[in-house]
Amino acid sequence: MKVSEIYKNGGRSLSFEIFPPKKDDELNNIDDTLDVLCELEPDFISVTFGAGGSCNCNKTIELARKIKEKYKVEPVMHLTCLCYDRHEIDEFAKALIDSGIENILALRGDVREGVMKKEDFTYASDMVTYLKEKYDFCILGACYPERHPESANMVDEIKHLKTKVSAGTEVLLSQLFFDNALFYDFREKCRIANIDVPVIPGIMPVIKAAQIKRMVSMCNAAFPIRFQKIVDRYENNKEALFDAGMAYALSQIIDLITSGTEGIHLYTMNNSCIARRICEGIKNIV
Ligand code: FAD
Repeated sequence: MKVSEIYKNGGRSLSFEIFPPKKDDELNNIDDTLDVLCELEPDFISVTFGAGGSCNCNKTIELARKIKEKYKVEPVMHLTCLCYDRHEIDEFAKALIDSGIENILALRGDVREGVMKKEDFTYASDMVTYLKEKYDFCILGACYPERHPESANMVDEIKHLKTKVSAGTEVLLSQLFFDNALFYDFREKCRIANIDVPVIPGIMPVIKAAQIKRMVSMCNAAFPIRFQKIVDRYENNKEALFDAGMAYALSQIIDLITSGTEGIHLYTMNNSCIARRICEGIKNIV
C-alpha cells in the first residue's frame, strides 16, 4: 500500500523509524523489537539507510522486506542519492519492486568529509524527479521545522522544499524537534507556500543524556526551558530521565494530535519500550 493513501479522507498516521543493526547476527535480534513494534499496529515503519560508501544498504532492503513479508506492516525505505549514480538508483529501485516495497523516503544524505559524491544527483529533489519519471513509488521526503543546517534562511528552506514537493514528494517527515510552536510556525509557512502535502512531525523521546547532546549537535534543535530543566535535573539519574523524557514526548504528541497534525512519526531508536509506552499513553486519544 502506498503511504499517501492513509491521509485521503482525513486519515492520520502513526509510524516508527528503525535502523538496521550494524552486525549481521543482530539482524535476527531485531525480530524481538519488531514483534513489539508491529503488535502496536503502526501504519508504516521506516528503515534508515547509510549515507553512502561503506553502507548498510542491503540490510535496509532486507529489513524492509522482512517488515512487509513477516509482519505484514507497510515499510518505507530510506534512500540517499548523493553517492549514487542513476544506474545504482535503478538497481535499488528494482530490488524494491522485486520485494513489493512501494514507499521510498527520498533523501540527499549528509555532505561529509570522506564521502565520495557522484554527479547525477545534487539534491533530494533531483532523485524525486528521476524516480517519478521512471517508477510508480510513493515518495516521501524530509523536512526541517528549524531549518536544515545548510540553509541560509527560512525563505530558501521553504523554496527548496516546494521544489521537492513539486517534483512529486507526496508526504513530508520532519526532523525531530522539542518545541511544538516551531513546528506549527513551519507548517503554516508550508501552507502559505502552497506545500499542501501532509507534514508529519518527528518525535524522539529523550531517555539518555549522551543522546541529547549528540542530537543537539547534529540537528540544532532548540531546547524549551521546560525540557532543559528535565535534562539538568535528571542527567545522572537514568530512571528519572526515562520517565521525564517519555512524559515530555507524550505531552508533545498529545498537543500535536489535538492541534490536528496528520500523524506522528516516532524515532524509536530500535527501543520497543519507547514505542510501547507512547502507544499506551495515547490509546484513547482520538
Ligand atoms: P535536500 O532536500 O536535498 O536538502 C539539503 C539542503 O539543500 C537543504 O539545505 C536545502 O534547503 C538545500 N537545497 C535543496 N534543493 C536546493 C536547490 N535546488 N538549490 C540550493 N539548495 C537546495 N540521512 C541518511 O544518511 N540516512 C537516512 O536514513 C536518513 N533518514 C532521515 C530521515 C528524516 C525524517 C530526516 C529529516 C533526515 C534523514 N537523514 C538521513 C538526514 C538527511 O540525509 C540529511 O539531513 C541531509 O543533509 C539532507 O537530506 P535532504 O533529503 O533533506 O536534502
